Amino acid sequence: MPDFSSIIRSIHTELDRNTHRGKVATYIPELAGIDAENFGIYLNCISGEDHKVGDWDKPFSIQSISKVLSLAQAFSIEGNSIWQRVDVEPSGNPFNHSSLLELENGIPRNPLINAGALVIADVLVSKLKHPKEEFLNYVRNLTNDDSIAFNTKVALSEKRTGYKNYAAAYLLKSFGNLNNDVETVLDFYFHQCALEMNCQQLTNAFYFLANRGYCMRNHAFLTESQVKRINALMLTCGFYDEAGEFAFEVGLPGKSGVGGGIIALLPNQYTIATWSPGLNEKGNSHLGMQALEQFTTATKLSIF
Ligand code: GLN
Repeated sequence: MPDFSSIIRSIHTELDRNTHRGKVATYIPELAGIDAENFGIYLNCISGEDHKVGDWDKPFSIQSISKVLSLAQAFSIEGNSIWQRVDVEPSGNPFNHSSLLELENGIPRNPLINAGALVIADVLVSKLKHPKEEFLNYVRNLTNDDSIAFNTKVALSEKRTGYKNYAAAYLLKSFGNLNNDVETVLDFYFHQCALEMNCQQLTNAFYFLANRGYCMRNHAFLTESQVKRINALMLTCGFYDEAGEFAFEVGLPGKSGVGGGIIALLPNQYTIATWSPGLNEKGNSHLGMQALEQFTTATKLSIF
C-alpha cells in the first residue's frame, strides 16, 4: 500500500505555497468573504485507515456536491422513472447554462447540472412530506452525524440572487417538467446547496458510493446497480465542462461545488475530499483539482 499519509502531506505542503489559488465565488454574496487560504484534504479508506491534512475539519458550503446526495435519495425512492425527466449525458456547458434545456424541450442533460438538480429537487418535494427535514435526515443518517445542518444565511443569500436558477426553473415549468411551484422547488434546492460539512464529513457521506451502497454503519442506501449509475454520472458529468479534464487528469468519479469542495472516490478503496475555496474559470477548486491529480498519480489508484 502507498504511504498515504506522507503523500497527502507533501501534496498539501507543495500546493499550499501556491499564490495563484483561483477566485472565491462571489455570485452568492454570503460565500464571497471565505478566505482563499483555506486548504484541507481528508482520505477515508474502506480498510478503516484515514489520513488528513490542513483545514480538513473546517465546515464549508458543499453547494453542488449536494446534487449527488439528493439524486441518491430520489433514485432510492422513485427508481428508474427519474430518467424519464432527466437525461444522463454530459452537457459540455457551465453548471448554470440553460441553452440546451431550451433546445432539448425541458429535459436537462443530467442531474448534476443545475437544471437537472432542480428536476430532482421537484421529485423530492413531491415525494417527501417535509422535504427539507427529510433530506437533511437522509444526509445525517448516511453520514452518521446529526451535527450536519443547512446554513440558512447562505440559502437565503442565494435565494435573493439566484436569477439563473429562477430562469432554469421557469423554463422547466414551461416545458411541463416541474410539478411543484418554482418558489417551493428553489427553496428546497437553495437549502440543499447550503448544507455545510467539513472534509471528513464529506468522505463519510460519500462512503456508501465507494462501498457498494453500504454506509459506514453498514446500512444499505442504494443497490449496487444504482451505485454504478451514480458513479458513472459523477465521472462523466461531475465537473460540468471540465468533466473530461477531471477524468483525464484524476481518473475518478467525483463532484465539485462552488464552495471550493471536491469529493472523489475509488470504488472499494477510498473516498477523498479536498477543500480550497479559490475556483478556476470553470467553477471548480483550483488547488483541489491539482491535489487530486497528484494523489492518483502518486498512489496509482484511479479507476484506470
Ligand atoms: N447553488 C449553486 C448554484 O446553483 C451551486 C453551483 C455549484 O456549486 N456549481 O449556482
